[in-house]
Amino acid sequence: ELEGNKEQPDCISSVIPGWFSEISPMWPGEAHSLKVEKVLFQGKSEYQNVMVFQSSTYGKVLVLDGVIQLTERDECAYQEMITHLPLCSIPNPKKVMVIGGGDGGVLREVSRHSSVEHIDICEIDKMVVDVSKQYFPEVAVGYEDPRVNLHIGDGVAYLKAAPEGTYDAIIVDSSDPIGPAQELFEKPFFESVAKALRPGGVVCTQAESIWLHMHIIEDIVANCRQIFKGSVNYAWTTVPTYPSGVIGFMLCSTEGPPVDFKHPVNSIDANDSHNKSRGPLKFYNPEIHTAAFCLPSFAKKVIERK
Ligand code: SAM
Repeated sequence: ELEGNKEQPDCISSVIPGWFSEISPMWPGEAHSLKVEKVLFQGKSEYQNVMVFQSSTYGKVLVLDGVIQLTERDECAYQEMITHLPLCSIPNPKKVMVIGGGDGGVLREVSRHSSVEHIDICEIDKMVVDVSKQYFPEVAVGYEDPRVNLHIGDGVAYLKAAPEGTYDAIIVDSSDPIGPAQELFEKPFFESVAKALRPGGVVCTQAESIWLHMHIIEDIVANCRQIFKGSVNYAWTTVPTYPSGVIGFMLCSTEGPPVDFKHPVNSIDANDSHNKSRGPLKFYNPEIHTAAFCLPSFAKKVIERK
């Protein structure tokens, strides 16, 4: 049993009493709000404030430093896309690394792939793992897969020390670049990613919103074009409880066998035993995979210019 403190969390809004409002300098002048039925947990880890509440319309909600990380209702859109966009773009992924993602949802999705033999995850904050296991069992179920090896620590240091050419795919499921995840958006980290991937290996990183963060996206794209000599792409999906309702991903490959991210080469076999035990996919399909790379003109102009 986790012990949390029982006071009213600061981020229960004084804007609309009894509602959670997501206020951050990363999206000035707006604050998405959810009605709170009950605060289930709040605690302070070495790295961040951790809170779980029961919302009235999105199920349970995980919040880190006042920012929504997932809700039971729409987590499928994020976890399935950040995982299957990279893993369905290469034949037979075997070794997969997840950075961040302590809730276990990306692990749940990686484990649908029967070709995968080994999954490393490096999450900085053990409290996120423990809270997810207690309050989000359908997300944390990913940890039950015997192929998973959990490392608690900084993903930046972990990858820097990883032997060259180790992974077929690296998935960076990070929080926003304020706080412990800041370095996960910087050039030296992407250099470590490229080094840890095999030739023709792929990375998929959480890459913010085209409505709110074009300047951050521009920087990431510029860095990735310098570092990844295979292909560099931006894809996006809809997640209603993320700021602006959308979230993007940077998908890149290293020099080697070419990867055409827009045309998946793998499907997820509905009859495969690994997949069956996870229940059906709720969001991802091959059509939405291809569609995710179509960008609105304003974003296309900036991303393709870089
Ligand atoms: N999977 C979630 C979803 O469905 O939207 C998203 C976010 S996930 C909980 C982000 C995780 O990245 C957090 O648990 C955070 O502790 C972790 N993290 C942040 N910085 C990190 C770092 N430098 N190394 C490893 N993990 C980090």
